Amino acid sequence: MPTHAPDTVMDTLRAADPEVATIVAAEAERQETTIELIASENHASPAVMAAAGTVMTNKYAEGYPGRRYYGGCLHHDAIERLAQERAKKLFGCSYANVQPHSGAQANMAAFLATMDPGNTFASLVLKDGGHLSHGMKINFSGIFYNPVHYALHYDKAHPEHERIDYDSVRAVCKEHKPRVLLCGYSAYPRVIDFARFREIADEAGALLVADVAHIAGLIATGVHPSPFPHAHVVTTTTHKSLRGPRGGLVMTNDEELSKKINKALFPGIQGGPLMHIVAAKAVALGEALTHEFKTYQQQVVANAQTLAGALSAHGYRITSGGTDNHLMLVDLTARDAELTGKDAEGWLEGAGIITNKNGIPDDARSPMVTSGLRLGAPATTTRGFGEPEMREVAAWIDRVLSAGLKGADELARTTETVRAEVRDMCARFPLPHAAH
Ligand SMILES: *Cc1c(COP(=O)(O)O)cnc(C)c1O
Repeated sequence: MPTHAPDTVMDTLRAADPEVATIVAAEAERQETTIELIASENHASPAVMAAAGTVMTNKYAEGYPGRRYYGGCLHHDAIERLAQERAKKLFGCSYANVQPHSGAQANMAAFLATMDPGNTFASLVLKDGGHLSHGMKINFSGIFYNPVHYALHYDKAHPEHERIDYDSVRAVCKEHKPRVLLCGYSAYPRVIDFARFREIADEAGALLVADVAHIAGLIATGVHPSPFPHAHVVTTTTHKSLRGPRGGLVMTNDEELSKKINKALFPGIQGGPLMHIVAAKAVALGEALTHEFKTYQQQVVANAQTLAGALSAHGYRITSGGTDNHLMLVDLTARDAELTGKDAEGWLEGAGIITNKNGIPDDARSPMVTSGLRLGAPATTTRGFGEPEMREVAAWIDRVLSAGLKGADELARTTETVRAEVRDMCARFPLPHAAH
């Protein structure tokens, strides 16, 4: 294992538990030497990881600042208030709950705060880019509530092909009178028109919940329009484009709703908050308030658009014709009718390019196979890739997939050369931490 800067965290771990240290070091090496294109992943800063590794993990702080169920919470009150203040400033809202353990928990709290069991809500279905917590049958959202789904434009001749069909949103809301209209997605490459969603929610007497888990970093820096003041409740993760520790946030401008959200989070669905993660969220939110973070987010979008353009030039189809944000869906069948997301993901991983297979709108293949890949630029941009590097990435993707289509021998040869080239490029763009 190559050794970079001395790392006291890893030294401590190695001395205390070599078995765990070996696995963690191998993962650090994997991250250092591969190109991360999974749209929901990123590389958190050394300061974020340092905060997550502090004594803040030792404390029970059930409740909220000034209203705890345990003594000794003085500094936990301070850190949680700081995280709340930074979240409110960053997103321009009046109330922020920083305790959700994850994005799914944030959504669960939003649902509990806005609906009764059995109530109807409208969302985009998972296979079109929604999230499993947006009404999948075997998720809490589909078990305890009644999801109805609006659609994308599926008409190839329509100028908005594969984009949100706002007429469908309106029609579904008119027919089902949902308690909540949910927008925000896991695999949607275009701008979300929050004002239009709010207009439709108002017509239907629904509350608008915006789940901005993927695009939070873009929103925080004005690179994507803000859900405020349109959405009644905004939920997000903190670990995707926002580049913080794994976790969630729930935000609102409405005092009554904020009380319901707090109650829903604790004692509704969680016990003690992960205070070391709250500390790391405070650090990440602080980083997100800097000018550098805005420049970073602008580069994320530029890099995603460059990657999308370069892949189109290689004969792939980007769904909806491109991207406005940090991610894209690549329709592999445009390159070759036999190419599947499953094969592409596996072949690329062999060459050190990490992606995830993903259904494309109206996909004829099953979710375990798929016709698409979802690619995102947040992680590569964090390590300093610019547009020339994104064009190289597109060329590598095409080389590997073309070789795979030709057969096992060709794939093995190409994988070996591309893997070496990927390693070289990664070495030129080291991660902000070097925890080996
Ligand atoms: C990732 C994601 C979530 C859930 O986040 P977890 O932290 O994995 O629970 C929720 N909603 C959307 C739209 C997401 O993309």
